[in-house]
Amino acid sequence: SKPSQHTAISRVRVIVRLRPFLAREIASKSGHPVPCVSVIQSECGSGEEVSVYLKDQETSRNECYNLDSFFGQEDDSVVKIFQKEVCPLLPGIFHGSNATVFSYGATGSGKTYTMQGTEEQPGLVPQAMSMILSMCQTTGSTVEISYYEVYMDRCYDLLELKAKEIAVLDDKDGQVHLKGLSRVPVNSMSEFYKVFSCGIERRKVAHTGLNEVSSRSHGVLVIAVSTASPYGLGTAITGKLNLIDLAGNEDNRRACNEGIRLQESAKINQSLLALSNVIYALNNNKSRVPYRESKLTRILQDSLGGTSRALMIACLNPGEYQESLHTVSLAARSRHI
Ligand code: ADP
Ligand code: MG
Repeated sequence: SKPSQHTAISRVRVIVRLRPFLAREIASKSGHPVPCVSVIQSECGSGEEVSVYLKDQETSRNECYNLDSFFGQEDDSVVKIFQKEVCPLLPGIFHGSNATVFSYGATGSGKTYTMQGTEEQPGLVPQAMSMILSMCQTTGSTVEISYYEVYMDRCYDLLELKAKEIAVLDDKDGQVHLKGLSRVPVNSMSEFYKVFSCGIERRKVAHTGLNEVSSRSHGVLVIAVSTASPYGLGTAITGKLNLIDLAGNEDNRRACNEGIRLQESAKINQSLLALSNVIYALNNNKSRVPYRESKLTRILQDSLGGTSRALMIACLNPGEYQESLHTVSLAARSRHI
């Protein structure tokens, strides 16, 4: 008989997206800038991995890491990421499994662009939402969304007035629960955009007095799908997709952070490291998965591992060698050995 495929289910794929140089970055350099990142299809291994090669243009230092896939600077790369990496996660949500997609990287590397995108080039969030809504037409499922942010280990509901803080509780069967988190029913893309853009605005202004908190908090959009069980017997089947714009993984030693900034970066680094440890444990079939190391991994416990599937997208700025190295090395560390 065939070997069990069970272990493959919880595997978290770790991929790279390299953004193009922006017009202003090209204008500020003489001659077209050379990206610090390139990729070679790996000859060895399963043939299903890529070697990402980083080269410092100034010192010619270079490093190489293996990851699951690479998406380059072409305009439609977010369409390819959606088709190849996100679409396969969607059917499970209609059968009671959860899935999570993270965009990860330094500030300015393209995390928000990858998730939200623009009107001309919609990101993974609107593409996933639209696909899920059209799948609902055949399954008769209904959709509700939640949107919250995790900042300094606290949770804020972005669909509530003034981004109300919500409690993270353990219920009696060990499940983690966000108490009173809003869930808004959504039937069309226009309804979705209305709710989501309101949440995005709230995220920008929630922390008065602190600039740009949005890049130093994790933004989590949850698309929850509820499908009636066959013949209307028993309870509905529920599954959800979490789409997460992670906080920027700035390197403290380089950023010279002080005071509140230092506390923020300590929390960010701690939660990103915890996330990496969880993904590593899942990818390497460890018996103990350290979900409790951070608020974020605790909250995501029901959406990482088990029958859940996840995707981590390491976003890179082609003009930033140190930063890219920092991002790719943590991404590679999360993968299997
Ligand atoms: P982050 O959220 O990681 O801080 P952003 O998503 O805000 O980064 O991207 C930084 C800048 O780069 C923005 O001006 C964004 O429009 C632009 N950008 C990012 N990725 C791309 C891309 N793939 N193609 C074109 N422009 C991009
Ligand atoms: Mg951003």
